Amino acid sequence: MVKKIAILGSTGSIGTQALEVIDALKDNFKVIALSAGNNIELISKQTEKYNPEYISVKNESDYKILKEKYPKKEIFYGEEGLLKIADIRDIDILLVAVSGKVGLKPTIQAIKNKKNIALANKETLVMAGETVMKLAKEYGVKILPVDSEHSAIFQCLNNRKALKNLIITSSGGPFRNSSLEEMEKAKINQVLNHPRWNMGKKITVDSATLMNKGLEVIEAHHLFDVDYEDIKVVVHPQSYIHSAVEYVDGSIIAQIGIPSMHIPIQYALTYPERVKGIETESFDFIKASKLEFYEPDYEKFPSLALAFEAGKKGGTSTLCLNAANEEAVFAFLEGKIKFVDIFKITKRIYDSYTSIINPSIQQIFDEDDKIRKLTKDLINNLQGVM
Ligand code: NDP
Ligand code: MG
Repeated sequence: MVKKIAILGSTGSIGTQALEVIDALKDNFKVIALSAGNNIELISKQTEKYNPEYISVKNESDYKILKEKYPKKEIFYGEEGLLKIADIRDIDILLVAVSGKVGLKPTIQAIKNKKNIALANKETLVMAGETVMKLAKEYGVKILPVDSEHSAIFQCLNNRKALKNLIITSSGGPFRNSSLEEMEKAKINQVLNHPRWNMGKKITVDSATLMNKGLEVIEAHHLFDVDYEDIKVVVHPQSYIHSAVEYVDGSIIAQIGIPSMHIPIQYALTYPERVKGIETESFDFIKASKLEFYEPDYEKFPSLALAFEAGKKGGTSTLCLNAANEEAVFAFLEGKIKFVDIFKITKRIYDSYTSIINPSIQQIFDEDDKIRKLTKDLINNLQGVM
């Protein structure tokens, strides 16, 4: 059967790798829709190669350029454009690979349209995990994880009733062996130089602060309905074990492989089938020879501890953590604040926030706007002081 697929964020790191997976499985997929943010050069190339029926871009001006180039195609723009793609009847699966909060609304919309979701956008679950998972259950929709750790757990978790712990691995990021003093001086290019993965800028910064691992803990809690007490994080610098599941009888089942996003992307797209797709290097136990494991340093990387705390508190606490962190990361990438200020700013906003339990979707977006504004104000007031 040919699966009809729509990709939100086809020009990003996950989006382009998903298209490579599709290239290797050409006869199994038909690309129905693609969406970009600002990269209209790349989405034009993708349009010529995959001939989608629908395209969406971020800005109206780019929409006009594309409309002139491809007058016969349905072209949309803005957040509305992403919702229009989530509304396409003729798709089997929606890959949500945009970064940031724009992923949430189209994911909800597609769930309500009973479309299965391949979810890379972890922000969706950090912002509104309870709502999204409840809706997925109500509409009988599968949320298939793309994030490598969650894909690993998804592949290992075949007996939910006997589950004891989830074990999420972390590479430790580029500052695993750095002192606090070195982190104080970290430059943007050092932060963006991740030892194992080549990803978008936002998630690469989060991997350096270990906030990414914190967001993944929250993501795992929602995806697999597991208490935070039963989620463990282990630093594993080689990143061969992508995560594991421990059962009550003492067995631990882990998913192992060479670090590559192609495998988790492909598994989400071909699930429940496993197929020979894109050529990947096999993991060689002998060559790997040594696997190391360490306890995360919660003091050096306070984001991880904060994520556990926010998750346990529940309600809009994790929304706050996500919004404050994201604004701080953007400010860092714009050169407005230092790397270590990301921790300080996120914590200050988080500490002064009162969580709303059982928020409505509207409240989620209102709170998100409010927290982002508070964070930006704090950053502007602190500039030069911190
Ligand atoms: P990138 O920054 O590489 O790509 C983001 C994509 O989203 C691009 O196509 C970008 O368009 C598009 N986009 C961004 N903002 C908007 C907007 N406002 N409207 C429409 N489109 C927009 O990110 P990644 O691919 O690295 O990550 C995507 C998601 O997947 C994130 O949520 C991340 O946490 C998650 N993830 C990523 C992993 C990875 O290995 N990269 C691993 C696990 C999870 P354009 O470039 O055209 O502007
Ligand atoms: Mg991950």
